[in-house]
Amino acid sequence: MRLPPRYHEAIDLHALCEEFPPAPEFFDTVWRLSEDALRARQEAAFRRQIARAWEVPFYRRRWSAAGLEPGDIKGLDDLGRIPTFSVHDMRESLARDALWPDYMGVDPEADDPIPLVFQTSGGTTGLPRPMMFAPRDREVMNIVSGRRLWMQGVRPFDRVQVMLSLGLPNGGILMREGIQKYTGAVPIMTGAGSQTPTRRQIELMRAWRTTHLIGFPAYLRHVALVARDELGLDPREFGLRGLISHLGVEDRGALEALWGAPAYDTYGMNEFGSVACDCAERNGMHVFEDCFAVEVLAEAADGARRPAAPGETGSVIVTTLFRHIAPMIRFDTNDISAFMPGRCACGATHRRLDGIRGRADGMVKLRGVNVFPEAVGALVAADPRASGEFICVVEPGERMTVRAEMHDASVDDTAFAAALRQRLKEALSVTLEVEVVPRGSLAPLTGLDSTSKIRRLLDLRTSS
Ligand SMILES: [Zn+2]
Repeated sequence: MRLPPRYHEAIDLHALCEEFPPAPEFFDTVWRLSEDALRARQEAAFRRQIARAWEVPFYRRRWSAAGLEPGDIKGLDDLGRIPTFSVHDMRESLARDALWPDYMGVDPEADDPIPLVFQTSGGTTGLPRPMMFAPRDREVMNIVSGRRLWMQGVRPFDRVQVMLSLGLPNGGILMREGIQKYTGAVPIMTGAGSQTPTRRQIELMRAWRTTHLIGFPAYLRHVALVARDELGLDPREFGLRGLISHLGVEDRGALEALWGAPAYDTYGMNEFGSVACDCAERNGMHVFEDCFAVEVLAEAADGARRPAAPGETGSVIVTTLFRHIAPMIRFDTNDISAFMPGRCACGATHRRLDGIRGRADGMVKLRGVNVFPEAVGALVAADPRASGEFICVVEPGERMTVRAEMHDASVDDTAFAAALRQRLKEALSVTLEVEVVPRGSLAPLTGLDSTSKIRRLLDLRTSS
């Protein structure tokens, strides 16, 4: 008979907190290491991560096919020799085994039992991507969540209302662990709008004196508008101290004006938790460089990719430095960003990403111009006649129509459509059609009320 694992034997928390200091110690130590000392720390973790990756069939298979042998990758200088992989490669592995794909590196028949956390991507089509976490993997992610929240102003006994889907997707549940274990604040798990209706969310945040909201920008905006326009309340008087979100290209200022509170940006994924986030300066997202080796790769004219210079945009490639199950080595996130030049005023040595410009595969090429739906959204949200909700519909013949919801029925839809068409042309250098639609009418298309993975692009060129 195989015995169940004992959690306290599966993880050495004291040693872990020495290696990856939680807040606030982190900010006096690793956060301010010299660049050389930080690099040395990364190198040691990277060598351990590569040794582990060679045990994982997914990497053995792919790296051997690329002509690599164990021992070839000696340090971070060799990172560029390792082939990148993407979600498509993970799907290929999942097609062979939907539960134990070979990137996990777990053999349930042979391995010692391990207390696993199981979560998924927020996939909207087909089966979601599963991900499992060993206790140590999970705890590093929790420490990072705690650092992030501390940096963004969360303190003991604060009330943090988490308006992310609960259940299979990782985001909401990961937040609960980080808040509870590493900030001392109280996680209030109301979940997305499908779990707690928006009016109820507002009622609870007032009754329980919520201090911070965590949610996607579209939903944070929606909640503020419901409070203001349907309930006749002023969200600026709710006493919130922060909006904690993945802003992407969303208009930070518009969201802050609605709530009367600062908005903080974060970058992360189901597989990693938070990779980078705003510090109090809110001027670029610092990568947690003791946990991740992040690259930005620009594409040259011949299609080859090379490290981008500071300020130059490219695809974000992430390598974990702490994972046992499913180490992620050179994962191509498909996100477009750039490293910011120079040092942040907060004194950290950890480099900053200057925000996520869009998804490389959400990019639509129209008459030679690259259009990101995310950039369209920022322009829509900047017009007070818009509710902020939109979707881009692409049709054959390089036609894109932006459907934008009007703020309320008093809006002159013809004038709004004309102004938005003009603004899009100025900002994006391409002509897009604009169709103004009633408030609330796009939710069935975008999934605003039913999922945290909100759809902004409907491509009718290839399929229905
Ligand atoms: Zn900073």
